[in-house]
Amino acid sequence: MSYAAESTKKSVADKKKIELPGPSDAPVVRIPHPQPRKPTDFKSTHFLVHTDLPSKEAHELLNRLEMMLGLISKYWGHPPVGIIECYVVKDLNVWPPGSLHPTGQAKIAQEAGVTLSESLTLGNKTVAAKAVVYAYADRGTPQHEAVHAYCSQTFGKTGPLWYSEGMAEMGQYWYHNDAGVHCHPFVVQYIRASQPKSLSSILSEQSITGDSWQNYAWRWALCHLLANNTNYAARFRPLGLGFLTGQRVSFAETYGPMAAEIAFEYRFFLRHLDEGYRVDLCSWDWKRKFKEPSGGAALTSRIVANRGWQASGVLVSPEKKYDYSASGMWQLSKTAEQATADGNADGAGRLEGVIFKDFELSEAFALGAFGSFTPPAEGQLFLRCRDEWNELADNKGVMSVKIKQAGDGQPLLRPTHTAEEPAETAAAE
Ligand SMILES: [Zn+2]
Repeated sequence: MSYAAESTKKSVADKKKIELPGPSDAPVVRIPHPQPRKPTDFKSTHFLVHTDLPSKEAHELLNRLEMMLGLISKYWGHPPVGIIECYVVKDLNVWPPGSLHPTGQAKIAQEAGVTLSESLTLGNKTVAAKAVVYAYADRGTPQHEAVHAYCSQTFGKTGPLWYSEGMAEMGQYWYHNDAGVHCHPFVVQYIRASQPKSLSSILSEQSITGDSWQNYAWRWALCHLLANNTNYAARFRPLGLGFLTGQRVSFAETYGPMAAEIAFEYRFFLRHLDEGYRVDLCSWDWKRKFKEPSGGAALTSRIVANRGWQASGVLVSPEKKYDYSASGMWQLSKTAEQATADGNADGAGRLEGVIFKDFELSEAFALGAFGSFTPPAEGQLFLRCRDEWNELADNKGVMSVKIKQAGDGQPLLRPTHTAEEPAETAAAE
């Protein structure tokens, strides 16, 4: 780390403060250590970790860091550059005076972390960068900081605040082949109990002193949504790479025409956020064309059990009554009993509807296998199999749902146990 002083640019890439809430009455079990721990060096392929953690925990940490680094370098399509050096501290008292950078030591004292980076730049171009991580030895902080360090050393930049911190938070929750939500339970509780923060306020935030885990939660949720929602994921990766490699990219240019759609899906995600929630399965169908049923013909849609709200293609009005018939069977887990669209006795597995208009949703209302309804509002009818929002992935089965205006044309037939392919949709359009 001996760059020429005049071209060395120091920046504090992080201002993280975590106040970890927890059950204050939980019994604290202290296992006596056979000898006082002292800082030791541990190495893996891409990391050099100085830590006072016991050897077993240090190796577990290295494994987690390597695993995460593999996932993020695959995501960003670039192998890590250089070794990432980390100070991971459990107990500051066992570190000799002067052995830690004062900024790093101060963050660790707050049970948080910071990544200090130095870069050698020629004009606008980063020629070389070295990042050093200082992290309190909880589960998430070293991984969060290691994302910043990877970005700094590999690309020379970490992107705007919302992206940099949102992606670093994602780093600590990233699992292989698993798009579900895995944030801390206190993050879920905080977001669901709070007034949602607007998209524009998150995007415009600049680095502030005393930034909190609460601020990080909103940025993480936005990055998680954009990285996993099938409407936005394909543009999110190149946008991020553009930030990291210093191209002229912006959220507004990438998503400008979709801002209202993203804001709607972001609010929806925040409202239903929970462990295991799958953003990809709840991606909103913006492309489907909707029309009023007319001439006595039924409109047919295919509604699967393992997704969130799905477009029926039917425009409805509260002044009219509609008949429906849902053929097929579905189940609420791989091993659960099959059910019709009437669902179980407790209401789970029942076909239900909601009306979408002007980026607002009505209250959900119960439908079933066969009957009529008068919608609570005017707009586009969306349908789903009622289930816990974080338990959709293991559902199976599909319904073909026919909807027509009541009293118009031939009555609908009672549903069968097999879902037909909605051939009439094409004929009716
Ligand atoms: Zn950070």
